[in-house]
Amino acid sequence: MFFGGVLFFLIFELLAPYRLSTVSKLKRGVINLALTGFNTILLNLAFTALVVQTLSYVATRQQGILNIFNLSIGLKALITVVFMDFMLYVWHLLNHEIPVLWRFHRVHHSDLNMDVITATRFHFGELAISAVIKIGIIFLIGADFLSVLVFESTVVLAAQFEHSSLKVPGWFESLFWILFVPPSMHRIHHSVIVQDRNTNYGTIFSIWDRVCGTLLSKVDQSSIRIGIGAYQREESLNFHHLLIMPFKPFVK
Ligand SMILES: [Zn+2]
Repeated sequence: MFFGGVLFFLIFELLAPYRLSTVSKLKRGVINLALTGFNTILLNLAFTALVVQTLSYVATRQQGILNIFNLSIGLKALITVVFMDFMLYVWHLLNHEIPVLWRFHRVHHSDLNMDVITATRFHFGELAISAVIKIGIIFLIGADFLSVLVFESTVVLAAQFEHSSLKVPGWFESLFWILFVPPSMHRIHHSVIVQDRNTNYGTIFSIWDRVCGTLLSKVDQSSIRIGIGAYQREESLNFHHLLIMPFKPFVK
């Protein structure tokens, strides 16, 4: 799903890009996918068994909030996706508001262009902490395997779509924005302007930003500069720079 999504959006980005790259897309692709490869190996070693064990534990004991009620498979999956997306919204907001979490999350925001390749750029530290929280949520609500699979697949594709540099028709953007997160909404979140960046935290649904007052829509899309003000030099954003970035001096 992950690599299929990257390939799908990449093809359309290359055919009809919303914006032309200002730095080498190939170089960013190699760096970001190297980060993904590194993360995937470590995360699988560290957490896959724990996630499967937690899922099987709650399934055999019918433990967790959702198992109190006699819900159909579809309704259980829907509630799981909506609730876990809200938790992801809160987690993303905390990544921007808590300095130690921002140290890790800034690796993602330091990408100088925003396209589907940006959706593959995360520091291991951020993903590891979020994996521990996710296991806790699965345990608390008693999520089943199918629901978690639906959530994870939806999150991956939603994240790839909203980061992508696709030419999406205006009418589709406006319609999509009512419930979900289109690329224009997330582009504001990747702005170098800190006040603009600290908005639009949603991944699947845009409703959390609307309800919690963090939605920003009225921004001139053509003037948005992507990245972090302190990290504008491409040559300082190689693979090893990204790995040690959280441990370097704090920047906004
Ligand atoms: Zn962010």
